[in-house]
Amino acid sequence: MSGASHRGTSNRDQVLSAVPVGAETPDVDVVVIGAGPAGLSAALNLARSRHRVLVLDANRPRNAATLASHGYLTRDGISPLELRKLGLAELDQYPDTAFQRARVDSIRRVANGFAVAASGHRGAAGSIAVRTTTRMVVLASGLSEVLPELPSIHHYYGTSLHSCLVCDGYEKRDQALALLGETDDLAERALLVSRWSRNLIVFTNGVGMVTAEQEAVLAERGIRVERAPIRDVVGDRSGMTGVALESGEVIARVGGFIRPRYVTTVDYAGELNLAVTAEGFLEVDAYGRTSVPWVYAAGDLTPPGPKQLIIAAGAGAMVAGGINRDETLQPASSTELSGTLK
Ligand SMILES: Cc1cc2nc3c(=O)[nH]c(=O)nc-3n(C[C@H](O)[C@H](O)[C@H](O)COP(=O)(O)OP(=O)(O)OC[C@H]3O[C@@H](n4cnc5c(N)ncnc54)[C@H](O)[C@@H]3O)c2cc1C
Repeated sequence: MSGASHRGTSNRDQVLSAVPVGAETPDVDVVVIGAGPAGLSAALNLARSRHRVLVLDANRPRNAATLASHGYLTRDGISPLELRKLGLAELDQYPDTAFQRARVDSIRRVANGFAVAASGHRGAAGSIAVRTTTRMVVLASGLSEVLPELPSIHHYYGTSLHSCLVCDGYEKRDQALALLGETDDLAERALLVSRWSRNLIVFTNGVGMVTAEQEAVLAERGIRVERAPIRDVVGDRSGMTGVALESGEVIARVGGFIRPRYVTTVDYAGELNLAVTAEGFLEVDAYGRTSVPWVYAAGDLTPPGPKQLIIAAGAGAMVAGGINRDETLQPASSTELSGTLK
C-alpha cells in the first residue's frame, strides 16, 4: 500500500481518494496515527469490522535502529521493515482502508468528530500533507527514547547495545556485557540482565543511582558497579569493544543494554487535554479508551510504557474491539460523538 492512492474500490475511492494537500476527506470512520504493530493491528481489525480507516504514519518506529526483531510468534528474527511491510500488505486487502506517510501535527474537535492535520516530509517519497475529518481517532504513535548523551552511543544502539531484555538478551547470552543508564532502577535492571549473562558491569556515568546495599546484592552475583563518568562507547567494524571512561581507561565489553528515558510525543493531541499518568503515558482502560470519548490509544504510549511488538499488536486489536462495542452498544450519532461515553 503506498500513499492514499486508489485501489479501484468505488466506496473507498469516494472516501479516501482526495487525500492530497489541503483536501477535505470527511466521514472517515477512524484515523489511526502510527503504523507500528499497535496501529496496524487496530487498523486491520477495524477494517475487518467494516470501518473506513485511514492510517497516517511518520515512518519513525521506535525499533528503527535494529535489523532483527525477536519474540513475535511465527516471526522470530524478522526485520522490522519486513514486519511492517507484511502488516501494510494485509491491510491493503480490505476495501475502505488507506495508508499515507505523513506526520500528524494536530487533532481538533469539530461538530461531528475530529479534524486531523498532517504534514508531508520534504524529500520523503510519497509523503504529502493531509487534512481530514474523522469520527474516531486511535493514537498509536509510540514513544521516543532518550539515551545517555555519549557521542557514539547511537552508532551501537540496535546492534551491540539494546534496551529490551527479552527481545535481545538471548543473542547476548554469556557475553561480557555493559548496562548503561542514568536512571534510579539500574540495580533491578542489572539483576534482570543477569538471567542472560553474569559477566556484567553496571555503568552509572556518575548519574544513575545504585545504593550501597544494592551494590552488595549485585556483587554477590559477580556484577560490578562502575560509577565513573563515561567518555564514550568504543568499538570497531565488528561492533562495540568497550566503554571508555573520562579517565582514559577503556573497560572491555562486547555489548549490553541501555536504560533509556522514555518520552511520549503526543503534542499533536495537545488540544484534546488527554489524561496522562504520572510517568507521562496516556491513561486508558482495558479497551484502550482514553479520557476523551471516541479517542483511543494502544501500544508503547500507554502504561506501563515500552513493550514488545506482539503486546503492542494485541493492544491494537483490543482497541478495535472497544470501538466496535462503543459504536454498536451505544450508537454514535453526530451529537453523541461530542458527548460523554463512559
Ligand atoms: C532498538 C529496539 C529494538 C527492539 N526490538 C524488539 C524486538 O526484537 N522484539 C519486540 O517484540 N520488540 C522490540 N522492540 C520494542 C518494539 O519496537 C515496540 O514495543 C513496538 O514497536 C511498539 O509498537 P507501537 O506500535 O506502539 O509503536 P511504534 O512501533 O514505535 O510505531 C509508532 C509509529 O507512529 C509513528 N508516529 C509517531 N508520531 C507520529 C505522528 N505525529 N504522526 C504520524 N505518525 C507518527 C512513528 O513514525 C511510528 O512508525 C524494540 C525496540 C527498540 C527501541
